[in-house]
Amino acid sequence: MGSISIQALLDPSVRALCERLERAFGDRGFALHLVGGPVRDVILGAPEAEDLDFTTDAQPPDSRQALLRAHPDAVFDIGERFGTIGAVFRESKVEVTTYRAEAYEAGSRKPSVGFHGSLEADLARRDFTINAIAFRVSDGVIVDPFNGQGDLRQGLVRAVGDPHERFAEDPLRILRAVRFATRLDFALDDATAAAAQQQAPTLDSISRERVRDELNKLLVAPRPSRGVQLLCDLGLAAHTLPDLLAMRGMHQEAGRHKDVFFHTLHVIDRIPPRLPLRWAALLHDIAKPRTLRVENGQVHFFGHDRVGEKMARSILDGLRQDGLLINRVGRLVGLHLRANAYESDWTDGAVRRFVREVCDDVLEDLLHLSRADVTSGLPERRLAIARRVGELELRIRGLRAEADIARLASPLDGADLMALFERGPGPWIRPLKDHLLDLVLDGQLRQDDREAAVPIARRLYAELGLDQATNARTRGPLASTHG
Ligand code: ATP
Ligand code: MG
Repeated sequence: MGSISIQALLDPSVRALCERLERAFGDRGFALHLVGGPVRDVILGAPEAEDLDFTTDAQPPDSRQALLRAHPDAVFDIGERFGTIGAVFRESKVEVTTYRAEAYEAGSRKPSVGFHGSLEADLARRDFTINAIAFRVSDGVIVDPFNGQGDLRQGLVRAVGDPHERFAEDPLRILRAVRFATRLDFALDDATAAAAQQQAPTLDSISRERVRDELNKLLVAPRPSRGVQLLCDLGLAAHTLPDLLAMRGMHQEAGRHKDVFFHTLHVIDRIPPRLPLRWAALLHDIAKPRTLRVENGQVHFFGHDRVGEKMARSILDGLRQDGLLINRVGRLVGLHLRANAYESDWTDGAVRRFVREVCDDVLEDLLHLSRADVTSGLPERRLAIARRVGELELRIRGLRAEADIARLASPLDGADLMALFERGPGPWIRPLKDHLLDLVLDGQLRQDDREAAVPIARRLYAELGLDQATNARTRGPLASTHG
C-alpha cells in the first residue's frame, strides 16, 4: 500500500523516538502506527507538529506498560476510558490510542467506544481522508484506505465516507474542515462543502468552548481570511460569529462602504499570527454597521471604537475565551483609532500622554494593528501612514530611553504638598499634582526637581484661590491649558 517512504522524511529525532516506541510495543507483539496530523504534515513537507499521535491494537493497560518501558517518567492517562495514554518525551508529546470503532446511536452524539476494532475501522472513523493515513512504524508501510494521499496531492479536504453522516455524528467536524482548508490552503471537496452548508445549524448544538478552540486555530493560520470567508459563504458564521454578517451586509448594500468586510479580511492576513492580534484585527471595525450615520452626505462611524470594544468583549465572552485575551482584544479594539490619529506635530508631551493612556502591555500590539489597518488601494497613502506609525514608534523609543514614561510623576506628591501648605488631605491636592505632572510630561520640569516645583506649586495655589477657600473648586486657568 505504501507509495513513498515517509521514514526518510521524518525529522531524525522524531524517527529515533518512533523507533524507540516501536521496540517497546513490537517486542510485546503489538502493532504501532503513526496516524493523523503528523503523517499528513510529513507527506506535505510541512513542519512537523510537536504532538505525535499513534494508534495501536494494545489495550490501554498494555499501552501504558509499553510507554513506561520506553519512558519511565512522564507517562499519564489522558483517559483510559477513551483508550488514550500519553507521554511527554523531550522531543514531543506522544499520545497512543487503542483502535477505536465508534458506534453512534441514533439521536445521540455520545459515541459508545469499543476497543475491539481494527486499524481500518479506526481510520474509517476519522474525519477527513487526509487525516486517515497511517504509517506503520516497524517497516514504513503506509496504510491509506481512503486515498488521503491523492487528496493531499490535489489539495482537497474530503470527508471519510458520507459527509452528511460524518457531520451528523459530530458537527465540530464542519469547523475542522474549514480549519484544515484554511491552514493547508486546500479546497473543500464539493460534497463535503455542500453537507457543511446544509448542516450549519447543527453547530448550535456544540459547546462554545469547542467552537472557540476551532476558531482560535483557524485565526492563527497563515491566511485566515480564507477561513473567515468560508465561514460566511457556507452559512457557518450565523452559528459561530453572527456579528460578522452585518459587516458583510454592508458590502452587499451598494454604496461607498462596501469595503468594510474586505478591509477586515486584509487586516487579519496582514497582522502577525498571534491570537490577540488576529482577534483584534477581526473585530476592530465590528461596530461600523451599528454606528453608521450619514450627515449632509458624509458617512460617519462615530464611536465605533468604543462600541466595538463592548461588542468584542461580549463576542469573546460568549465564546468562553479566557479573561486575559478578552481584555487585551477589548482594549486594542477600543484604542485602535488612537495610533492612527498621530501626526508629526504632536509634542513630546502628547506622545508621552499617548503612551500612558495605552499602557506598555498593549502598545506594541496597537502599533501592529495600526500598521495592518492600512489597506487603502492607494500606495502613496499606505506609504504615508506606514511612515507615520514608524515615526511614532521611533519617537516613543526615544522618549522611553530618557525615562520610564509610565512611571513619570509629579516631583511633589500628596504628602509633600500637605507639608508645604501645612494643610490636611483634600481635593485641593489634585489640581496641583496634575499640573506638576503635566509640566513633567511636557518636558518643562524634571520629575526629580523638587526645588523648581515648589514655587510653581505656590503660584498655582494662590492663582486658584486655594489659600482663601478651604473648598475651592478645582479647575483654574493653568490647569485648563494642559490636557
Ligand atoms: P493538528 O495539527 O491541528 O493537531 P491533527 O490532524 O493532528 O491536526 P487533532 O485534533 O490533533 O488534529 O486530531 C488528531 C487526529 O484525530 C486527526 O488527524 C483525525 O484523524 C482524528 N480526529 C480528531 N478529531 C476528530 C473528530 N472530531 N472526528 C473525527 N476524527 C477526529
Ligand atoms: Mg494533533
